[in-house]
Amino acid sequence: MKFNFFILVLLLCVLLDACKSDDKESTTTPVTELMSLDMEVGGSIFNTEISGTTAELKRDLPYNTTTAKVKAIQLSDNTTANIKAGDMLNVGEPISIVLTNSKTNEEKNYSITLTARNYASIVEKHGLLKTDGNQIVNKDGDPVSLAGNSFFWSNNSWGGEKYYTAPVVSWLAFDWETTIVRAAMGVDESGGYLSDKEANINRVKTIVDAAIDQGVYVIIDWHSHHAEDYEDDAIDFFKQMATLYGEYDNVIYEIYNEPLNISWSDKLKPYAENVIAAIRDIDADNMIVVGTPEWSQRVDLAAADPITSSTNIAYTLHFYTVNHKQWLRDRATAALSSGIALFITEWGSIGYTQVDPETNLWMDWCRTNKISHCNWSVNDKVEEWSILSQGANTAGNWTDGEITQAGQLSRNITRSWQE
Ligand code: MG
Repeated sequence: MKFNFFILVLLLCVLLDACKSDDKESTTTPVTELMSLDMEVGGSIFNTEISGTTAELKRDLPYNTTTAKVKAIQLSDNTTANIKAGDMLNVGEPISIVLTNSKTNEEKNYSITLTARNYASIVEKHGLLKTDGNQIVNKDGDPVSLAGNSFFWSNNSWGGEKYYTAPVVSWLAFDWETTIVRAAMGVDESGGYLSDKEANINRVKTIVDAAIDQGVYVIIDWHSHHAEDYEDDAIDFFKQMATLYGEYDNVIYEIYNEPLNISWSDKLKPYAENVIAAIRDIDADNMIVVGTPEWSQRVDLAAADPITSSTNIAYTLHFYTVNHKQWLRDRATAALSSGIALFITEWGSIGYTQVDPETNLWMDWCRTNKISHCNWSVNDKVEEWSILSQGANTAGNWTDGEITQAGQLSRNITRSWQE
């Protein structure tokens, strides 16, 4: 009996050992795999998606790119490749990536064809934007929607003015694939246009000139909550802007950011008609966007009594996902149905996170209805909507560490939006 027990234990030990070595073998079965491949052009990273033995860029390289640098390549254990970080690869032709496993001598071939955008800029592609019923269409009459960024208030010493630089516009266009920026010129508050015209106009001109240079759209925004009190100043300002920029397809005028709770038909509409008439004297065709009551949420009031004195007019809708949900989308859908065109010149996510289901719902709504939108805002102030971490470079070229969670959410949207 004792002897048999000993044999049994011995047998069990042998079996256990066998199982163990089986385990060991299964976890170390050598694979020969391309795990990830990232390319780089001009400091911007272009990730690829690998499916089967094909790697594909998640977004096209910039127009006219002929070569791209291998930024990083990740392989399975004991695997080497015929390309390495730092190598330059040609755009347009299929490239074979040959992997070799030193343990098994297995060879595996992957392929990638690097592609570049086939148009120079979004403005070259779409031209002057116009409203057509409730839609905004391009030069060919096709509906178009843009995704981009609003700058912060331009006011002296408010903190956001340091990002009113040409390199920030070009970095947003190049790395974020932003197709529209918005210069939010503070008016009546401290340090705004009324107290320092030269400094604020110069900031706006910096952004507009850079946008024209980069081929992206740009909104010139009279960023006020009380614009009806400064109508003459608005007329004077927009006459200057129309004279300077009326010939450029890039430019959109936004004549009132967020009116408060004032009458559309008695106060806002007359203000808008007067400013629009002044612009149209100089610039007959560029789009004009008009703010709506209650922080640009009452698009229903504009829809009930739209401006008919001029054409190419859209109306402002703003949303911040913490407050503005399905009820505002329903209101906006009804306004569209009644025939007016909408433009989201400002929106904000919940902040401090890339996970915001309400933002996803809004973006779905924008895609469905072909609505353009600018994310608030390009700034490093500690608040939920800033896209930059404190002290982020005022010349763009931002690392991921210089971009907030809200900024990364915004960048994911702009990078994947282009049409
Ligand atoms: Mg024009």
